[in-house]
Amino acid sequence: MKFIVIDALARASGERYSTYDVVGAGPRIVAGILYEKGFKVDLKAYEVVLGEPSILKKYDYILISAMSQDKGALKRIIKLAKKNNPRGKIIVGGPISFEYEDILREHDGIDYIIVGEAEIPLTRFLEEISSSNPRIEKVPSIAFRNGNDVILTSPPVHTPRKILSLIKPWFFIENSYPNHKIYRYYVEVVRGCSNFYRPLLSDDKYKCIKCMVCRNAPLKHRLKCPANIPPGCGFCSVPNLFGPARTRSPNSIVEEINDLVKHGARRIVLSAPDFLDYGRDLLVSPNPLTDPCEPAPNIEYIQELFEAINDLRLKYNNVVIMIENIKACLVNEEVAKLLGKYLSGTTIHIGLETGDYNYNLNVLGKPIGLKDVVKAVKLLRKNGLRPYIYLMYGLPYMSKKTYLKTIKSINILSRLGVEKITLYKFTPLPHTAFEHIAPEIEKHKELINKLKYLVNKFNYNYKKKFLLGKRIIVFLLFSKGKYYGYPLYHGPTVFVKGIKSPHFSGCLAEVEIYDVAARFVWGRFIRIVEC
Ligand code: SF4
Repeated sequence: MKFIVIDALARASGERYSTYDVVGAGPRIVAGILYEKGFKVDLKAYEVVLGEPSILKKYDYILISAMSQDKGALKRIIKLAKKNNPRGKIIVGGPISFEYEDILREHDGIDYIIVGEAEIPLTRFLEEISSSNPRIEKVPSIAFRNGNDVILTSPPVHTPRKILSLIKPWFFIENSYPNHKIYRYYVEVVRGCSNFYRPLLSDDKYKCIKCMVCRNAPLKHRLKCPANIPPGCGFCSVPNLFGPARTRSPNSIVEEINDLVKHGARRIVLSAPDFLDYGRDLLVSPNPLTDPCEPAPNIEYIQELFEAINDLRLKYNNVVIMIENIKACLVNEEVAKLLGKYLSGTTIHIGLETGDYNYNLNVLGKPIGLKDVVKAVKLLRKNGLRPYIYLMYGLPYMSKKTYLKTIKSINILSRLGVEKITLYKFTPLPHTAFEHIAPEIEKHKELINKLKYLVNKFNYNYKKKFLLGKRIIVFLLFSKGKYYGYPLYHGPTVFVKGIKSPHFSGCLAEVEIYDVAARFVWGRFIRIVEC
């Protein structure tokens, strides 16, 4: 049996955004499980399959990993698969899998959907198809059509911490991603999220009884809400779909990074909904980690991970390690010092969402406000990190007061040295507390426009002040006649001008920034640093 795993993550309606330089962890985990179990498997980026669809003929099983917003890309792949290999079985996974019912009804080409985390169902699926009498209905958490019905064999299964540490994700990246050196490879360090606070909603769908179980009860009681309100921030589905935070062992992470680096990776992102949850689950074990801010981070465990990664960094001397998101309430002097010691010069993302603490706490279900973020930004800046902040608009029940406080927060953040503010429009996601609520735009249109204007101005001014005229090192990517540059230490995508040859894709280059906009910058090619 031959398998292909197709990474269609973030391909939207069929094209990878040129500004996107990320390789997610999910498809590599799936391919790694297949490889470790001794099956013949290839992992290919979506573009590779699109460029040469006839390769699909070779495989018995075609596995596609996609997110909700990748429906267009998924449709294209299914069409190509059916045309080139009508007998190949198609299996879909990834975050899109939670919409299994709609997707199975819409695409009759799909045979199975592995819903949620893949480790356990995929392993069981492989056992069944290898047996003389396969019974797929015995595999947990798998969806398929049965006549006019859609069957889901069991609710999604959360992979236990121990198993997460046993998986060896795929690392033959040079065979999977063209220009494989330029990407930021996401290495999962934590699965799930620790925020089991909930929005205290009282509307047509939910009636919170204000029992405060989700905030004050013993940790394991917080898994359930008597009003059935999904856990976590109202706009986010991570805790509901992936459960409480679980940590992978430092050894398994370092081994994965080592493999990736040996195969050409140069930029690694330690991926987690909140990096500072790393090892916090061990502090409360055997209880689940269902509190976003207590206990404080597990400094010793984080240090152990960083030490091990540092040994590796010294060995290779040309690897950049970054982390992704953190919760501001977990940042203290000790944490900031530790992050600064190992990650100085890299970016770090913090969700503020709005400048109104009471709104965040009660409506979003997020016990973090501007005060926490200000403290975190100051500490992180002092220790050499580059904070990026997330804000949102259009969220349910945002009042004029909440918008005004959010607008005010931009001014405060700009004085602290925040490098970038990303403003997101709220989009209701399935399996969240806000799933049933449409974005509120019209009611506060003027304030939203002002917020957008100020965020753009902030981002533009920062780039003008700190990037214009500066020389930085970027990875080059040649695509559709143009060069893009991805900063080695992360930062805005650079539109690179002045390179005559189209053959420098994948090389490191020095560029000088000569023009800036709120989201992008333009750079003049100076020299090739390394190819
Ligand atoms: S959201 Fe929290 S406070 Fe409200 S009913 Fe559920 S557990 Fe109780």
